[in-house]
Amino acid sequence: MALAAERLRTAGMRVTAPRMAVLMAVSDSGGHLDADTLRERAQRIIGRLSLQATYNVLRALTDAGLVRSTQIAGHPTRYETERHDNHHHFVCRACGSIRDVECTVGAAPCIEPRLPEEYDIREAAVTFWGLCPGCRATASAS
Ligand SMILES: [Zn+2]
Ligand SMILES: [Zn+2]
Repeated sequence: MALAAERLRTAGMRVTAPRMAVLMAVSDSGGHLDADTLRERAQRIIGRLSLQATYNVLRALTDAGLVRSTQIAGHPTRYETERHDNHHHFVCRACGSIRDVECTVGAAPCIEPRLPEEYDIREAAVTFWGLCPGCRATASAS
């Protein structure tokens, strides 16, 4: 709890129990959980927390740069600790598991798009789709 409070303060945020609990749930998870799961975990720390409140806290934490949210087509938004490493994601089409893919360049945007100079490009969100090793083994066995 102390560490979560410290991180909130450093980010210039008011320290509240829901914010500490959700932040702890995100950092303990190792990444890529949806709001529902984070809510469940936060509730184990502070008791009742509505889904709406969870979303509000997640938005505030994301805006403050403590949490990174990722939209993946066909999946609920996933949340993880913001490490400012511009990493990408691999999503298994069969089981839906998500893993980080290191950015090869290290800084955003790591892909140079063909757009006129007038466009101010800040980042590129890349999702790699395929089969994880487990699903690949299952698929080739059948
Ligand atoms: Zn899989
Ligand atoms: Zn990630």
